[in-house]
Amino acid sequence: LKRIELVKSKIGEFPDFPKPGINFRDIFTALIDGQTCRALKEVLINYVKKNHPSIDAVVGLDARGFLFSFTIASELGVGCIPIRKKGKLPGETHKVEYILEYGSDVFELQCGGIKKDQKILIVDDLLATGGSLKAAIELIQKAGGIIDGCLVVMELNALNGRKALDGFIIFDKIIMG
Ligand code: IMP
Repeated sequence: LKRIELVKSKIGEFPDFPKPGINFRDIFTALIDGQTCRALKEVLINYVKKNHPSIDAVVGLDARGFLFSFTIASELGVGCIPIRKKGKLPGETHKVEYILEYGSDVFELQCGGIKKDQKILIVDDLLATGGSLKAAIELIQKAGGIIDGCLVVMELNALNGRKALDGFIIFDKIIMG
């Protein structure tokens, strides 16, 4: 609990970024401090070992999710696989279009990374509306994977992202945003 409180106290808040009205939570601000890096790593690793002990791979979402996916995967000795915004991944990809506040975007996952029926943990820095995680779940299922859980470091409770994902997944949060 002490470690979580430390991380929470160091998360940066930037009003009106990237647009007026948005209070941006910045995990990188917390990672400037070495003790906080270590605390967050330990919290994540302990959490995953306890709650998701039999996963085959960790999928991180573009881009802050990559920090945590590699950290967790390398510690557990399981695969680390990215989901990226369109046009960033080489080779053949699975694609899913998802709706944003204004317009839409596309998430991609390389073909061949996830094997049929592998158990997957999805990680990202923050849950807002849940649109990104929902698209990621769809993409992984399309590739034949089974969702063991979704893990975020922060959650913006006011946006009801958890509700958007209700009944769909097992959901874990480490720290409240
Ligand atoms: P959602 O799809 O609405 O749940 O938004 C989550 C995605 O947007 C995640 O990939 C986050 O990294 C990003 N995001 C949204 N708001 C913030 C924020 O305040 N800080 C950092 N990332 C954010």
